Amino acid sequence: MTHNAPNIQIDDYFAADTFARMKSFADQKDTPFVVIDTATISRAYQELEDNFPYASIYYAVKANPAVDILTLLRDRGANFDIASIYELDKVMNLGVTGDRISYGNTIKKSKDIRYFYERGVRMFATDSEADLRNIARAAPGSRVYVRILTEGTLTADWPLSRKFGCQTDMAMDLLILARDLGLIPYGVSFHVGSQQREISSWDAALGKVKVIFERLREEDGIELKMINMGGGFPANYITRTNTLETYAQEITRFIEEDFGKDFPEIIIEPGRSLIANAGILVSEVVLISRKSRTALHRWVFTDVGKFSGLIETLDESIKFPIYVEKKGEVEESVIAGPTCDSADIMYENYKYPMPLNLAIGDRLYWLSTGAYTTSYSAIEFNGFPPLKEYCI
Ligand SMILES: *Cc1c(COP(=O)(O)O)cnc(C)c1O
Repeated sequence: MTHNAPNIQIDDYFAADTFARMKSFADQKDTPFVVIDTATISRAYQELEDNFPYASIYYAVKANPAVDILTLLRDRGANFDIASIYELDKVMNLGVTGDRISYGNTIKKSKDIRYFYERGVRMFATDSEADLRNIARAAPGSRVYVRILTEGTLTADWPLSRKFGCQTDMAMDLLILARDLGLIPYGVSFHVGSQQREISSWDAALGKVKVIFERLREEDGIELKMINMGGGFPANYITRTNTLETYAQEITRFIEEDFGKDFPEIIIEPGRSLIANAGILVSEVVLISRKSRTALHRWVFTDVGKFSGLIETLDESIKFPIYVEKKGEVEESVIAGPTCDSADIMYENYKYPMPLNLAIGDRLYWLSTGAYTTSYSAIEFNGFPPLKEYCI
């Protein structure tokens, strides 16, 4: 079954003057590249602070590690959710201290845990006994939080759930073991899946967290202090979602229902929702063709593809709004990348309407591409360089 993407209107995604400013910058540059409007990120950060006034924000660096973005967030007082020693160095080289950093990856080498510890990081995620024992040895006395599995897989466009986390019973075992190993059993984390559209996913996860808090308090005398709600808040792609305000109101209500007004320390780790809407990936049409004389749709090949920043089009999971300047009659099109790999097709089932007069050399503006594009771009597949990025 095929579906048609709607015709994309810029005003649904950007203020006209913002787009005009980004476009006039983009007009000077060769494609492909991402242009990031940092003012949009500032606004998104403010919106998060306003809507979650009680939460500490830990930016998930993997969404986009551009120095300009990290610097902006550093200056706004953000903390950082970090997954590797490389991200750690990058953030600390900007003067961020270890007390603003959480090592959020549950899959890590012992020597990397030690490296974080030596650089002053004292907060670690875990979801397994082997990792917890490594933390106890390499980062003695640190705070640990245990990540639990969530079931948001069906309603998140980019699920993160299956690979990370453990069942509730195991989470409790790990928190008890943490105490016995001389660590501080600090809290529980979850991630409901990225681009999570269903707000009740947070409710279900918080319900599990509540059980862990209560049982550990009553049965083991362990007083947990913190809930890390991860990321998952959505960006503006073709499939629209509720506003951040609606998410925040509902989630706050869930927390109050489970924990009362005097609830624990709350951490959120936004990546996508903070950055995606600020970026436009500008690409160019390389070729337009048909596969037969009678084919009903065209193939539009662009100079950006799955390996140069658009990996989230895998299984057509994330449907980016694509804006073109030409107007008029449209035709269903398959959109594909420039490499010699047949997996490099972005949209084939979901048909994007492209103007009939679209021509080689015309530009495609992929909206809401600030997150998970440059950071996913391959170094040299087929000789194509990594996706460039300009922050303005
Ligand atoms: C990727 C990731 C995030 C960010 O998720 P978004 O859906 O982009 O907000 C947050 N926390 C952890 C542990 C992650 O791995």
